[in-house]
Amino acid sequence: MTIFSSPAFEDHEGLHAFHDAPSGLNCLIAIHSTALGPAGGGVRMWPYADDQAAIDDALRLSRAMSHKNAMAGIELGGGKTVIIGDSRTAKTAAMFEALGRAVESLGGRYWAAEDVGISPADLAYARTQTRFVAGLEGHPAASGDPSPVTAEGVKRGIELCVRRALGRPLSEVTVAIQGVGHVGALLAGKLAAAGAKLVICDVGAETVAAVAARTGAKVVAPEAIFDEAADVFAPCALGGAISAATLPRLKARIVAGGANNQLADAAVGQALFDAGLVYAPDFVINGGGIINVAGEIRALDRGEAFDPAWVEGKVAAMIGTLGEVLDRSLAERRPADRIAVQMAKERIAAARR
Ligand code: NAD
Repeated sequence: MTIFSSPAFEDHEGLHAFHDAPSGLNCLIAIHSTALGPAGGGVRMWPYADDQAAIDDALRLSRAMSHKNAMAGIELGGGKTVIIGDSRTAKTAAMFEALGRAVESLGGRYWAAEDVGISPADLAYARTQTRFVAGLEGHPAASGDPSPVTAEGVKRGIELCVRRALGRPLSEVTVAIQGVGHVGALLAGKLAAAGAKLVICDVGAETVAAVAARTGAKVVAPEAIFDEAADVFAPCALGGAISAATLPRLKARIVAGGANNQLADAAVGQALFDAGLVYAPDFVINGGGIINVAGEIRALDRGEAFDPAWVEGKVAAMIGTLGEVLDRSLAERRPADRIAVQMAKERIAAARR
């Protein structure tokens, strides 16, 4: 089994494996960095093919959280939990209580939150065993659904890119949104309110029809969204939207959206840049959600109520950071995603020193 030589290992501080026989919990908690603060990152439950796939995913995701949190300007390092199992069939209260004990044993070096396959109700069981869980509901420090803050950050990021690349306001552009779930639907509403024209798609027919009715957006089939005449392409579905196959089809000059892992591989980041497109790196523009969670951790640590004004200040700063990434990309003639990773590493290294 490979840990230290996994491509995603890159200076991880720790990888912890937990097993709880009574509940059947098998999970890994990866801690990439605590230089900026306790590691923060979601819990993902997935039926990994084997242990190696789970290890690689935990390491990859926790490193990505380090970079995202550093660029969001919050006092959190990067970490991630993966539970090996099928979230549709294998979840039990006892499993999440065991997860809570695992998180507690790390003594506050890691804060857990939600990710794929996990609900606030699951985390509530973990919370009975540890205080290091965020993303719950129904208490004064609770931050609630992160999607509205994510969508607000993405809207402002798109506005910044449009002004810089096209010299136009949102009311004079067309945005193609791929996926109108939690983030995409809220983004569509905000862009429509700002006067932008919209083209949207989703694999869910009812979802897309409801958003179109609210926003006046044109609806196209999921596979057709790449060919639409738009100024901005906003990936808000799953990862890998921009690939060697889809990039040549885009008419947009700007790629900026809420999805994680928008680039299918590193080469496509270079290809985007070479083609003269402006790319807002996903882990910079979609940091609103983790900022919201950080607001809850801050409130819990201080014994205070959740403070939306603190979150707003961090979202505004995040857009400033996006501007800095785009400036450096232009000045240094290098793809924005590489600049952003470098900036994140610089912030983490400075904190380590
Ligand atoms: P969601 O599941 O609510 O929405 C995703 C939508 O995309 C769904 O409606 C789904 O039907 C649709 N979809 C899936 N495949 C598609 C395809 N091929 N073409 C068109 N539509 C497709 O998820 P969400 O919370 O809105 O998150 C969207 C993306 O943003 C994800 O990549 C997520 O990791 C990322 N993200 C979300 C947040 C947040 O606060 N929710 C924060 C940061 C990043």
